[in-house]
Amino acid sequence: MSNALLINLTYVAAAVLFIFGLKMLSSPATARNGNLVSACGMLLAIVVTLLDHSIVDFRWIALGLVIGGVIGAMAARLVAMTAMPEMVAIFNGFGGIASLFVGWAALHSGDVSTFTVVTIFLSILIGGLTFTGSLIAFGKLSETIPGRPYIFTGQRTFNSLLLTAIVVVGVMFCMDPANTNLLYVLIALSFLFGIMAVIPIGGADMPVVISLLNSYSGLAACAAGFAINNNILIVAGSLVGATGIILTNIMCKAMNRSLANVLFSGFGAVKTALAKVEGEVKPITPDDAYYILEAAGSVVVVPGYGMAVAQAQHVVKELQELLEHNGAEVSYAIHPVAGRMPGHMNVLLAEADVPYDLLIEMEDINPRMEMMDVAIVIGANDVVNPAAREMEDSPIYGMPIINVDYAKTVFVLKRSMAAGFAGVDNPLFFGENTRMLFGDAKESIGALVREFSS
Ligand code: NDP
Repeated sequence: MSNALLINLTYVAAAVLFIFGLKMLSSPATARNGNLVSACGMLLAIVVTLLDHSIVDFRWIALGLVIGGVIGAMAARLVAMTAMPEMVAIFNGFGGIASLFVGWAALHSGDVSTFTVVTIFLSILIGGLTFTGSLIAFGKLSETIPGRPYIFTGQRTFNSLLLTAIVVVGVMFCMDPANTNLLYVLIALSFLFGIMAVIPIGGADMPVVISLLNSYSGLAACAAGFAINNNILIVAGSLVGATGIILTNIMCKAMNRSLANVLFSGFGAVKTALAKVEGEVKPITPDDAYYILEAAGSVVVVPGYGMAVAQAQHVVKELQELLEHNGAEVSYAIHPVAGRMPGHMNVLLAEADVPYDLLIEMEDINPRMEMMDVAIVIGANDVVNPAAREMEDSPIYGMPIINVDYAKTVFVLKRSMAAGFAGVDNPLFFGENTRMLFGDAKESIGALVREFSS
């Protein structure tokens, strides 16, 4: 069998492993194995690429594997669970810059056809904008730069001019790929475009940006695959691009917004100040909360970002078991954008071995909310904010929420009256049936567990 045939057959096997791996990722029960299956596919693809003699020396590849493997393993071990979303943002960015470099390198592979030059242009453009866009997203998620949308006068005009410049320089570059000045200008424009595309988006819209950048990193890899004529890169890039777009669509639905609206409206930039809410707050102590919970027949737990910060998932599971032991029916209501990355709450609860069938999606739990004796909101804020349903001047108006305020009693566990990621006040905290259990979520739940156990 010729080398080329062997390589392509192995690529097909790797592609099959990627697809099965992705399929397995769609359920928490099989997700771990799915990850392993995909990783095996990737290793297979990398190893078999060694047989292609047009590659650089295999020692470089082995070195790359070792360095990349060590950095990946360290990142997986050292990065805190709460910093995972930022890490995902950075990984998207690295994917983008890698594709940019592959495209750039392909320019030096001798005589390149017009088609190849166009794909090189695309890998540099999409790779570059994914890189800087992801860095901005990283900054916003880690709060090293303000998370709110950044809008300035003349922004649209500036962006239109930028886009025109990219098209003009792109056409010139495709006609004269040997001109390095054009290449540098193109790279600079793509970097600038990534920044300009992400700064006007912020607040509750960030989930859409993250999933979109994820998709872009796939598209950049796909273009790079065409540029160097590598089938597995094309397949892997397309898979990432397509899954990213599907996820973007899910996130847009979760926010009840169109993609165009998220990208171009500068959402939330000016309205935040309008939505000031005031009223009387009713704090509660763990022992009073215990008496109410002890009498409850149905309890719904609504986790949010604060549960991740407090790492309260294990003690929440303990409380769930105690409540069940006491005769209550317990379920978990999962909002699609709760936390800071898609599936964040599912990952946390799976870590604590919470049975998957207790996790109920927003659309399914909302009709049952009025029957719930107690809703325990653990570090969630935006995803339970009734302003999204009722206050037309609120920046999050229209976003579907978990209607915890319809439950008979609501406990909100958080440390202060501070706003959530979107920076919007929450009328839930002043509700007639709401009781605020102030403190770190892990400690508050721990106190409830102790009440039950004694
Ligand atoms: P929010 O960010 O709205 O609120 C989290 C709350 O947790 C805060 O109000 C905070 O209040 C509380 N909290 C923080 N630490 C603790 C702690 N140790 N113990 C108890 N409470 C704590 O979270 P939600 O999950 O409700 O909403 C997610 C938001 O993030 C949405 O706006 C979403 O659009 C956005 N987002 C989501 C992404 C995704 O993919 N899921 C990605 C990017 C953004 P306090 O400080 O008073 O304790």
